[in-house]
Amino acid sequence: MQPEELRQIDNEHLWHPFTQMRGHRAENVPLIESGDGFYLIDVEGRRYLDGVSSLWCNVHGHRVPELDQAVRDQLDRIAHSTLLGLGSVPSIELAGELVKRAPEGLTKVFYSDSGSTAVEIALKMAFQYHNQKPNPDAQSRDLFACMQHAYHGDTIGSVSVGGISIFHEIFGKLLFHSVQMPCPAAYHRPEGMSEADYHAHCYAELERLLAENHTRLAAFVIEPLVQGAAGMQMHPPGYLKRVRELTTRYGIPLIADEVAVGLGRTGTMFACEQEGVTPDFLCLAKGITGGYLPLAVTMTTDEIAAAFEGEHTDYNAFYHGHTYTGNALACAAALATLELFDSQNTLENVKANEQILAERLAELKDHPHVGEVRHKGTMVGIELVANRETREAFPADRRMGHQVTLAAREQGVIIRPLGDVVILMPAPGMPAAQIHELCDVVFAAIDKAISLQV
Ligand code: PLP
Repeated sequence: MQPEELRQIDNEHLWHPFTQMRGHRAENVPLIESGDGFYLIDVEGRRYLDGVSSLWCNVHGHRVPELDQAVRDQLDRIAHSTLLGLGSVPSIELAGELVKRAPEGLTKVFYSDSGSTAVEIALKMAFQYHNQKPNPDAQSRDLFACMQHAYHGDTIGSVSVGGISIFHEIFGKLLFHSVQMPCPAAYHRPEGMSEADYHAHCYAELERLLAENHTRLAAFVIEPLVQGAAGMQMHPPGYLKRVRELTTRYGIPLIADEVAVGLGRTGTMFACEQEGVTPDFLCLAKGITGGYLPLAVTMTTDEIAAAFEGEHTDYNAFYHGHTYTGNALACAAALATLELFDSQNTLENVKANEQILAERLAELKDHPHVGEVRHKGTMVGIELVANRETREAFPADRRMGHQVTLAAREQGVIIRPLGDVVILMPAPGMPAAQIHELCDVVFAAIDKAISLQV
């Protein structure tokens, strides 16, 4: 098909996710046809640096020979078979590999297809666990703890533990109850409160809310270290450790949603490692196949899994699964992705890039419209504000984050903002030269967008 025909069908028939479709139709977005390393190429032959890893999932680049070959080899065997009543070779090999790499004690691997379902599964497993564990509680555990501004996906369960009003509020009547802990990222703290006081308030509230609700809490779900979709909100060092101490004290299973922060993004394979924390559930998706195919994982412990052991007539199995659970092509891509982490020293590359990003981002230190730069590993959020001193936001209808995205695209870089937070999420395997290219173009785009609007 010619580009015009593709665009016509896209505009008339394709409903894009998270997209106000009227604006989309007016915008002539690039139609991507191929990839080359860390670049995307559209149907008109224009090349764009992939500055957000294709929605935070690409790891080693596009058309990586080792990944392409692993998928081809698996295609020569079989594309898919079920895990209901059968085993499947790559899903077994991957489970073994994940148990070797995950924090010690996470010994069970349950597959699904997206980050949302990885979290949904952890919530359902935790709930069922409390109903089936030895010595069940007197009170039913029908409540979940989560973080203010959290994003854990779009299924009804994962939305129930979410806290982003424009995405989640409309579904309010469909959701189950959760208790939200204040997000300890301090930039949006109340007027007149110091950062230290705000942190103290968040720690105190965490303790109070868990103490008050612990008999009803089925689990605590948290994105460790960085709340990505909240706008790269960084937790203070030690916060995750404190959450683990308190959840252990109160017997509340901890669900670590590492869908965004896992697989090297924060500088370690799993973000939990940085605070020496082992959760009761670990959720992975996005980068697990290198950004090639849909696959997600919910890992848990022997202790949790033991509550689901029984005879056929006990009917205490985990009755959940999807048609493509443990898909062979996706598992083969995931195995090859993990091997590349070793053979290409990807974690070392993330550390080197973290340093480069820190140096480059310092250039924005005195920018009059950059309120805060948040950065960990290869996750970056640059918050644009109308007034740096008062932290006053730009009016929403200016869509400053979006204007920066358009200006960057004109110069051959694809990024996607979260409101007025400019997000950079280069792939963990991206070389230094492209990190510099990303910074050069995005910093210039910020200036251009602001100069046109202010
Ligand atoms: N959890 C976190 C922390 C995420 O960032 C996302 C997606 O951005 C999800 C869950 C949902 O993943 P998916 O879009 O694959 O369903």
